[in-house]
Amino acid sequence: MKIVMLGAPGAGKGTQAKRIAEKFNIPHVSTGDIFRANIKNGTALGKEAKEYMDQGKLVPDELTVRILLDRVAQEDCKNGYVLDGFPRTIPQAEVLDSELAKLGTGVDYAINVEVPDDDIIGRMSGRRACLKCGATYHLSFLPSKKEGICDNCGSELVLRDDDKPETVKKRLDVYHEQTQPLIDFYNNKGVLKEVDGTVAPDDVFKAIEEILK
Ligand code: ADP
Ligand code: AMP
Repeated sequence: MKIVMLGAPGAGKGTQAKRIAEKFNIPHVSTGDIFRANIKNGTALGKEAKEYMDQGKLVPDELTVRILLDRVAQEDCKNGYVLDGFPRTIPQAEVLDSELAKLGTGVDYAINVEVPDDDIIGRMSGRRACLKCGATYHLSFLPSKKEGICDNCGSELVLRDDDKPETVKKRLDVYHEQTQPLIDFYNNKGVLKEVDGTVAPDDVFKAIEEILK
């Protein structure tokens, strides 16, 4: 099963993708997590990606597509995966589509998690992320058991550099310009499913389970 998560930054794609991955035993592939791991490890890729990420811009398609295709070619992805944060542009979606078509397959579900812009800033300023295992929490809506510490791996939680309000505003603009058109792209392919992302995380997941069962 190949699933694409769509939605604005902060809509809850990562939160839901993790649950889908666990339930269906498929990898959660987040291009944002891959970039952040590279930044943490000080790689050349990380240095390049950080320039764009810190400004709220997208990392160029060519680089992003290369990273993603390498990742999904790995053995653990052979029975499917849930993509979180990719594709983010029409050219990225087209490359994914043509690479999958070569293998005689395609995206099975594109799940759009709908959250109005007004809710996004609050979500991002309260988001706390574990840069080690990729888990995300929210100070009010989804707190970790011990403040500032990841429930999964015990690492320190941080406010991401790109979650500061001025960067979030830019990321929302970029989303509306470059990523939102993917809703029509996947609708035209007949695989688009929409869920209300404003309800509690457990209820969003219930709606997704209904779609996938
Ligand atoms: P995305 O991957 O789409 O950028 P996240 O999954 O990281 O978004 O969620 C953004 C923030 O909102 C996180 O702090 C997360 O804990 C919180 N969050 C996720 N889903 C919900 C929800 N349904 N209601 C309230 N807060 C949520
Ligand atoms: P995310 O973790 O999905 O919120 O992504 C954080 C940042 O990483 C984005 O704001 C972009 O700068 C970059 N990024 C992640 N995925 C992509 C992608 N598919 N295309 C371009 N840039 C991306």
